[in-house]
Amino acid sequence: MSAQLPADENAAPQDEATPASDAPRKRVLLANPRGYCAGVDRAVVTVEKALETYGAPVYVRKEIVHNKYVVRTLEKRGAIFVDETDEVPEGALVVFSAHGVSPAVHESARERQLRTIDATCPLVTKVHQEARRFARDDYDILLIGHEGHEEVEGTAGEAPEHVQLVDRAEDVDKVEVRDPNKVIWLSQTTLSVDETMERVEQLKDRFPQLQDPPSDDICYATQNRQVAVKAMAPECDLVLVVGSQNSSNSKRLVEVALGAGAKDSHLIDFADEIDPSWLEGVETVGVTSGASVPDILVMEVLRYLADRGWEQVDEVTTANEKVAFALPRELRKAMSDVR
Ligand code: SF4
Repeated sequence: MSAQLPADENAAPQDEATPASDAPRKRVLLANPRGYCAGVDRAVVTVEKALETYGAPVYVRKEIVHNKYVVRTLEKRGAIFVDETDEVPEGALVVFSAHGVSPAVHESARERQLRTIDATCPLVTKVHQEARRFARDDYDILLIGHEGHEEVEGTAGEAPEHVQLVDRAEDVDKVEVRDPNKVIWLSQTTLSVDETMERVEQLKDRFPQLQDPPSDDICYATQNRQVAVKAMAPECDLVLVVGSQNSSNSKRLVEVALGAGAKDSHLIDFADEIDPSWLEGVETVGVTSGASVPDILVMEVLRYLADRGWEQVDEVTTANEKVAFALPRELRKAMSDVR
């Protein structure tokens, strides 16, 4: 871990006349906001409090949030992660993840008489409500999102006969609507803002009457983390994004960094995944993390960099977040009952 970095082959040759200030200036730009959002914080605390209140095991359908470290830590405390409710013993307690579930999943849990705590992020629930409302009004709903993502499955499951998924550019041509005057687009909460607007423009070329959602579906946390990365990326030779491969908002941060001018960018779960070759010839390293990442993992990355000469850390702050969500009602009630 403490090995010296290889010499920078691209650096200007130093001679006695070269002032010290011309030496490569190693620094870190640290994005703020980064890491945990209010929905992730609520979901993780929900599982922790459920373990305290009911005792282990507590079953969790899907990863509570898309982060390896968080999932492993909760497993050690007695959480059991399953893919589907039919893997949960009848009558047991199951927590639904922050990404949300479709009505069919609630129904299957009822059939198995599972006790449930729904940790769906309230901002995902808002998109579900929009899907239900526009389906009730008989709209065709074009849901922009990533095929196979749990959140998209949950939202589409609210109104499967009305929702069509638009993932890639080529999906736009495949969309068929019944009445071009009664079409609305909604989106997954964790997309790239710029890419989503590109998709919307393509859809509007086909359906000029396409309606916009009543409010932003891409959530405040996703947007804020992208704005912070955009602000620092032009100055960065390398941007390290801490996050897991299955975390949509983390992957988007890599794309946003590259799109905004970073020379290189990588997604890593842990500091020991940093390839030393990425740091060759690098002066400014940007560091940020996805909305499901605890800050302890970012601190490990900063320590790794400090050990190799990147000791100066300047924060790039573009927003101050003060959002917090109450724990699920069913859990609050159980906690007050045991007091
Ligand atoms: S990223 Fe946004 S939608 Fe997802 S859990 Fe966080 S606040 Fe909620």
